[in-house]
Amino acid sequence: MGSAAAAVENLVVIGSGPAGYTAALYAARANLSPLLITGYQDGGIPGGQLMTTTHVENFPGFPDGILGPELMDRMKSQAVRWGTRLIEADAEALDLSQRPYKIQVDGQTVVAHSVILATGASANRLHIDGEDTYWSRGISACAICDGATPQFRKAELAVVGGGDSACEEAVYLTKYGSHVHLIVRKDSLRASRAMADRVLANPQITVHWNRQVGGFGGDQWLEQLQLPDSEGSACETLAVKGLFYAIGHTPNTRLVKGQLELDAKGYLVIEGGSPNTSKEGVFAAGDVADAQWRQAITAAASGCQAALAAERWLSHHDLAVTVSREEVEPKAAELPQPTTTATESDFSADALWQGGSYALRRLYHESPKPLLVTYTSPSCGPCHVFKPQLKRVLNELEGAAQGVEINLEDEPEIAAQAGVTGTPTVQLFYGKELKKQWRGVQQRSEVKQAIEALL
Ligand code: NDP
Repeated sequence: MGSAAAAVENLVVIGSGPAGYTAALYAARANLSPLLITGYQDGGIPGGQLMTTTHVENFPGFPDGILGPELMDRMKSQAVRWGTRLIEADAEALDLSQRPYKIQVDGQTVVAHSVILATGASANRLHIDGEDTYWSRGISACAICDGATPQFRKAELAVVGGGDSACEEAVYLTKYGSHVHLIVRKDSLRASRAMADRVLANPQITVHWNRQVGGFGGDQWLEQLQLPDSEGSACETLAVKGLFYAIGHTPNTRLVKGQLELDAKGYLVIEGGSPNTSKEGVFAAGDVADAQWRQAITAAASGCQAALAAERWLSHHDLAVTVSREEVEPKAAELPQPTTTATESDFSADALWQGGSYALRRLYHESPKPLLVTYTSPSCGPCHVFKPQLKRVLNELEGAAQGVEINLEDEPEIAAQAGVTGTPTVQLFYGKELKKQWRGVQQRSEVKQAIEALL
């Protein structure tokens, strides 16, 4: 590609789900050199909702299904292959009061002629008493990330919700729990027929119809749920070690509140059938403007439409500065590779990052450096996001610290010994002492500072 960074960007895409990456792919192939702000912690994780799902079986082109995080890795690689530039941070503020538009991100102001909003929607919480007490101590918003953790193995588990996510999670959790209870507030499931049938036919799942989650109990860890009926007149107690939320989503429109027209539920209002928002040069794609269809394929399609609309709008206003390609055919896409497990024969005392408990034992006892131990599971989308950031920190520290990755699926007993309750969990050791622990995706700077403080 020719020099990409223009003083005013042609197009900034905000959001990195199927909508964002597809918009970026189309814009990149139109030689617009789009800048994509992936998001990081605000409103979910980069890659969007597919990062917290297992097998996507309805995205055409993958006849046997594909893991959600893997599909997103592929979309990302494809967008990058054609010249999309990424900022892996949250867009902090967006000023649409005058053109060109301004976006605050990662300590800088990006100025852009056009913007595609593909910020998606975030998982809802129940917001009832006790939720904060038991959050990560039995309550989780992501069965796919946390299901494999030792506390949930062979335990009674519950999922609340009646949509496709709830059904998918209930079926997924039967791999780990002894029995799964699905708490549904009505007398029917909202999920698609195929998904609902799978739940109803599964002897390891009991559906509790017309029940709400009304309260929690337990000492240190969740042990029981109070389940009033839908009228609130009769209450059951259910003994479970885990409760997984799957109660729908709220659109991520915080950045544009007061600047663009939103509907009563907070979704972006678009001109019937088009990606046009209430401001010129600002387009919407994916779930942020779609309360109805909310599928990966419809989000991708709307990303394509938004990119084509942005391209037309830019050329109509004679604003596009296209880049020229040095190579007509870009290099093959690069995909992340899984970490190999070190054995006695290939363990390296100096490697920046390696996998497995053998490496963990050796480094824990022998390494004089700070040691980052990262617990992951193969289907955990947030792990896909956090791992490259941790590796970047170790690279930046030029070998002053080391990393080991433990796959919870392969070595659950190591995770149990370490008291790990979900993935990703990162523990920082120095001189055989646990100095710090993080659960879930964190800012890279936070981990780096904690290591630097030990050096
Ligand atoms: P949905 O909005 O479809 O479903 C949310 C569910 O949570 C509903 O059953 C709703 O009940 C229930 N609910 C909401 N609030 C509460 C509450 N406070 N207490 C108890 N229950 C509550 O969300 P999903 O995440 O399931 O799905 C979102 C979209 O993603 C859908 O379009 C779905 O088809 C799609 N999807 C597709 C998948 C696939 O095809 N593989 C997998 C997962 C999702 P009620 O029905 O009473 O409103």
